[in-house]
Amino acid sequence: MSAPAAATCYRHPSKSAAARCRRCGKPICRECVIQTADGWFCGMECAEGAAQFQRLVATATPRAGRVFSARRFFAGLAIAAGLWAIFGAIMWARYGIGNPARMLRWLVGMLGALFEWLGHSLGLG
Ligand SMILES: [Zn+2]
Ligand SMILES: [Zn+2]
Repeated sequence: MSAPAAATCYRHPSKSAAARCRRCGKPICRECVIQTADGWFCGMECAEGAAQFQRLVATATPRAGRVFSARRFFAGLAIAAGLWAIFGAIMWARYGIGNPARMLRWLVGMLGALFEWLGHSLGLG
């Protein structure tokens, strides 16, 4: 009787796999593992592909604690203020001043969202 079939290296069927390629998922033995900052890979092709993907992700998503950009901040602020004014006008026209409690609740909610956005813009979020 043999032990539960452990995954074997896709290149060396006689060796048990020490890890799985992070990109393609192939089982790999210690000899075949290529270790990079991104993890373990079966070969340079996968390691390179993953590194490229990481670069893509890094450039596409804003990082927390990045340098504060004043231009971005004010552009966002202007857009937020504009949207806020438009929504405010719509809400005002819809509910009017006849329902101050509802208006107040809505204002508080909008302010909360605005401050949350400010926090993100300043890199605090
Ligand atoms: Zn691979
Ligand atoms: Zn191997």
